[in-house]
Amino acid sequence: MKRTTGTDRSITSKWRPQTRAVRGGTWRSEQGETSEALFLNSGYSYDDAQTPADRFAGEAEGMVYSRMQNPTTQMLEERIALMEGAEACRVQATGMAAMTCALLCQLSAGDHIVAGRAAFGSCRWIVDNLLPRFGIEKTVIDARDNAAWEAAIRPNTKVFFFETPANPTMDVVDLAFVCGLARSHGITSVVDNAFATAVLQRPLEFGADVVAYSATKLMDGQGRVLAGALCSSEEWIQEKLMPFQRNTGPILAPFNAWVVLKALETLELRANKQSENAMEVAKFLEGRVPQVLYPGLPSHPQHELCMKQMSHAGAIFSFVMDGREQAMGLLDALELIDISNNIGDSRSLMTHPATTTHHNMGPEGREEAGVAEGMLRLNVGLEDPQDLIEDLDRALGRIGL
Ligand SMILES: *Cc1c(COP(=O)(O)O)cnc(C)c1O
Repeated sequence: MKRTTGTDRSITSKWRPQTRAVRGGTWRSEQGETSEALFLNSGYSYDDAQTPADRFAGEAEGMVYSRMQNPTTQMLEERIALMEGAEACRVQATGMAAMTCALLCQLSAGDHIVAGRAAFGSCRWIVDNLLPRFGIEKTVIDARDNAAWEAAIRPNTKVFFFETPANPTMDVVDLAFVCGLARSHGITSVVDNAFATAVLQRPLEFGADVVAYSATKLMDGQGRVLAGALCSSEEWIQEKLMPFQRNTGPILAPFNAWVVLKALETLELRANKQSENAMEVAKFLEGRVPQVLYPGLPSHPQHELCMKQMSHAGAIFSFVMDGREQAMGLLDALELIDISNNIGDSRSLMTHPATTTHHNMGPEGREEAGVAEGMLRLNVGLEDPQDLIEDLDRALGRIGL
């Protein structure tokens, strides 16, 4: 196995982002394969007895077991770290495995976490239900409110955890302010960047400590595999994450790593085009439905902040119909757009969060998180946006709008 220029930091750090996405982290075997090889092996063998002893002691480089490292997963980690501008990255089996690791690897009984109230349903479940079982206190706030972050800090606050834009309300969090506040109090900020990816938003540049991903979404982008990733400093990865990850075992399988590795080569094209398509569809819906929640629209109250920290507002947005019945009626009237609770896909997908992704929160939880009963979340794909607009136009007509 030969590491190519794709792994030489003195070279790759000078590459522009799209070159990093195509070539970063490429290793080649003696066969000289052009595309990255897929290593489907759990273990490794050694030429002599001393080699594994040195590797286990951390005195020599090299693989020992695929729960810790595998050439294919490591290529993916190097590529994601390069795209993010991070010192290091580790990948996990799913986005939720990444979030669980990011929090549990650094929190202990008696610690306190502050989290955004609008979040992926399972992220809220971890904060609200799992962490308290281990004696970790939490405060959940409106993450758009800078003063609320400041007011929530306690002497034992260890972590700020939020996503921006947030699922499904599209709340935008002021990255520079919140991450800066965390730094000045010795608090670690963990930013779930799944909606944006490194192509549209790079939280580390705004002072974030850890960037967390569901790579299932835009990164794979074709609805194929589940995957997660955590990016941070080499120190955080080695000292906080790895003792937890190597012993608890949430590593991403090599095959899934390979799929995401290849998907990253087209991420920039897809993320930008899907964002442009989303903008066209959002503009059509504005004026046709009671409320469109897309920070890319100039009418959105957080538009300016969004454009300060993102290059495009992304492929996903929500809009609010007049109640649950009307929202479900619109879903049933669609012909082209699929009813599906996934996002980031190259196919356009629509879901009703109150009965799917945010069902478990119950009506009060949804009200607190800002998930209206009439809300629909739309992932805009790579179809011709005119066909998507015609599908929505026809469906709205069918329900009398
Ligand atoms: C999907 C998602 C997750 C969870 O990711 P999985 O890969 O489904 O486990 C976490 N955060 C956000 C913002 C997501 O959209």
